Amino acid sequence: MTGSSTDPRRLIPRTDAVLGEPRLSEPQRRLGRALVRRAVVDAQQRARAGELAPERIVDAALAALPDTAAGSLTPVLNATGVLLHTNLGRAVLSDAALAAVGVAAGTCDLELDLATGTRGRRGRGALDALADAIPAAAAVHVVNNGAAALALVATALAGPATATPEIVIARGELVEIGDGFRIPELLAATGARLREVGATNRVHLRDYADAIGPATGFILKVHPSNFRVTGFTSSVSVAELSALGRPLVVDIGSGLLTREPLLPDEPDAATALGDGATLVTASGDKLLGGPQVGLLLGSPGAGAELVHQLRRHPLARALRVDKLTLAALEATLLGPPTPTALALHASPAGLTRRAEALAARLRAVAVNASAIPSEATVGGGGAPGVALPSAAVALPERYAAALRAGRPSVLGRLEGGRCVLDLRALPEEADDPLYAAVCAADRATRPG
Ligand SMILES: *Cc1c(COP(=O)(O)O)cnc(C)c1O
Repeated sequence: MTGSSTDPRRLIPRTDAVLGEPRLSEPQRRLGRALVRRAVVDAQQRARAGELAPERIVDAALAALPDTAAGSLTPVLNATGVLLHTNLGRAVLSDAALAAVGVAAGTCDLELDLATGTRGRRGRGALDALADAIPAAAAVHVVNNGAAALALVATALAGPATATPEIVIARGELVEIGDGFRIPELLAATGARLREVGATNRVHLRDYADAIGPATGFILKVHPSNFRVTGFTSSVSVAELSALGRPLVVDIGSGLLTREPLLPDEPDAATALGDGATLVTASGDKLLGGPQVGLLLGSPGAGAELVHQLRRHPLARALRVDKLTLAALEATLLGPPTPTALALHASPAGLTRRAEALAARLRAVAVNASAIPSEATVGGGGAPGVALPSAAVALPERYAAALRAGRPSVLGRLEGGRCVLDLRALPEEADDPLYAAVCAADRATRPG
């Protein structure tokens, strides 16, 4: 501490006094007092540290304020070539879904029949759209995410309150999804017991048959959605498992409702139900390309009864989705192809043309850019090991950090000493913002 009266740090005005400045009153009305206060406190700290003159505190706070009170999330251009990037929020919502979220954000007829003025069924539009999109399902329900769908069915069919507390599952399907989330631990947390069958690489129908008994709640088949086991392997098909006469739950993971020719090994709900699954569970924000939800799709007969039972289960209320999610899901199902579908189906020739045009524009402003062939992937959401032919712009590696720090931020891949910007996960409309972001990063990294 220097007690000197000439120390400029003694001249730092109090926070309340700064917040009373006329120039900060409009931002406080628009963004809220808390957000502006934080910017002021940050500026005061910089002034105390001697980095800022005390009379510049208001200017510094104003400069640090965002345009809107959007929060701390920063938009990122996904140039990783990973279509469903978990760290970037998985599926991108379509414009149609975004518009529907805007309507739902206000007061809306969520549980009201406007024709009669009486109470209506919550989420009917989304559930009807889902039922129409998957005619093989006789009943559908939606919960918070894929994990919630599994937790609900495990609790209802094999929880400690049931007489059938066992889930029969192959050892090769005890999957860790990501960030330490393991399906077997989730199932065990519901109080169900896992009856593991087979070896890591091989399981046979007789393994399942031997494990089934009076304690069996259901058989669970989980799609290994983020890894591949090759070599001496075998697994048992949905059709074979369905013949064992117990409820068969198939967790397909990615939310493909019907077969996708580009991803021949990726399971889909229609095929699983057609092959005899009682219930299919899946995520909404992977290949379905919608909001984060867990889908529960029941077969005609036993599956439909099970879905009705799950819908009435006390836990269902704790796992239910909000109105924004219902709106986004409905619009995803009824609307134009999702950004995920467009990225998956983008033609390699079109991607190459975009990469060449972008690299040429960048070279014209003296950026060392080249168009290169690339390989994209679906990501943690499915189709492990499948390479999607793509195209990228390669830059010197030093651009990577500046691109990440830019607004919008750009995330690429580091490969062979280069910063590679893969275009498959980005729509063509992103090429201009991407060009601008590289130019900004170029200015930020240029020595001098
Ligand atoms: C992603 C995934 C889950 C978890 O779904 P969330 O929606 O992330 O909760 C469960 N099972 C499989 C096979 C998955 O791929």
